[in-house]
Amino acid sequence: MTSKLPSNVDTPASEGFIPLSVPEVRGKELQYLKECLDTNWLSSGGPFVGRFEALVSEYLGSNYGIATSSGTAALHIALLVSGVQPEHEVLVSTLTFIAPANAVRYVGAWPVFIDSEPDHWQMDSNKLAEFIESRCSWNKGNLINKSTGRRISAILPVHILGHPCDMDSIMETAGKYNLAVIEDATESFGALYRGKFVGHLGHIGCLSFNGNKMISTGGGGMIVTDDQEQALRAKFLTNQSKDDGEEYIHQEIGYNYRLSNIQAAVGCAQIESLEQYVTTKRRIAGTYFEALAKVSGISYLVEADWAESANWLFTIAVNASEYGLTSRELMGRLKESGIQSRPLWQPLHLSPAHTGANSQECTVAESLWRDCLSLPCSVGLTEEEQKRVIQVITQSQV
Ligand SMILES: *Cc1c(COP(=O)(O)O)cnc(C)c1O
Repeated sequence: MTSKLPSNVDTPASEGFIPLSVPEVRGKELQYLKECLDTNWLSSGGPFVGRFEALVSEYLGSNYGIATSSGTAALHIALLVSGVQPEHEVLVSTLTFIAPANAVRYVGAWPVFIDSEPDHWQMDSNKLAEFIESRCSWNKGNLINKSTGRRISAILPVHILGHPCDMDSIMETAGKYNLAVIEDATESFGALYRGKFVGHLGHIGCLSFNGNKMISTGGGGMIVTDDQEQALRAKFLTNQSKDDGEEYIHQEIGYNYRLSNIQAAVGCAQIESLEQYVTTKRRIAGTYFEALAKVSGISYLVEADWAESANWLFTIAVNASEYGLTSRELMGRLKESGIQSRPLWQPLHLSPAHTGANSQECTVAESLWRDCLSLPCSVGLTEEEQKRVIQVITQSQV
């Protein structure tokens, strides 16, 4: 007897259904794809990979871009080239999609989870410093977590939902304790921190171009860095550590983390639209801000005065006692009306997948998990559709 594998289809495409966040194709995607097919460059050879790497690194202002097969692969390689070793520890935001913490485990290191701050929901840079000062010791140039005895070698801030972390403060802490900073800028491609692009503020940055990110290649990622040695090593590791194209002699274990020419072609077209996407998402967020400000018990991530958010996923926090419904009850109401919404991720210090990782108390992240709901905010969301979402939220209030 054969049993069916689970389907990848998770969004019913029924009439009038409003999805949470789907890719937008409005540029030269087809033209560039046709070039791949006409020239027979389908795999990782061909001109689009290098072109896409150049476009992303130019956009962010970094010296190098290294394309990868996914954002998770980018994080894995970025950790390796940043010198994170087995049994090291990496300080990671607890409130994020799981990929960065998983990548830490891929290198044999351990995540240590840091709480979110309540206004912008990012890694709390004060609590980060507090963790180091109260729970770590400084021993011959190494930062040691007193409760595990392990060395902490990096910080991995994740700019969630389109909004930057407070990078000046994180970089100051990193400088003080000689820690590498690996930014996960996946959800905030196009966002600015004090006028500078997120992803090019730490020592190395990572992006994902999965289906629902700021731009999509169907699947893919990128590492960005200014450091030539790091860039060369990253390119080498993503290509099975091949430095000899003819005899196939490999000096060490590498990875097949290459992006294909087809995916890169889509990426080249998508990045041409990124600025438009950011502008559109800002308008969508603005409409939600205005309409929902009047609804008691509904609040949202407030943009810091030092930030220009990319507004990736528009997310509200539902205060159940003021609004009359919990976030999950509201999610049910939206679903009944054919509208997809979604809670944030289970904070990783609670994740069964990361049992055994150390963490500080993360009460802010826990209440955000309880209260938050992301709303439809695709670039292609129509005014009509957004009105329907707002109407259900306004009318469901008890
Ligand atoms: C989606 C996401 C990733 C993973 O990217 P993939 O390309 O799916 O591997 C990594 N980090 C964050 C913050 C994400 O949201």
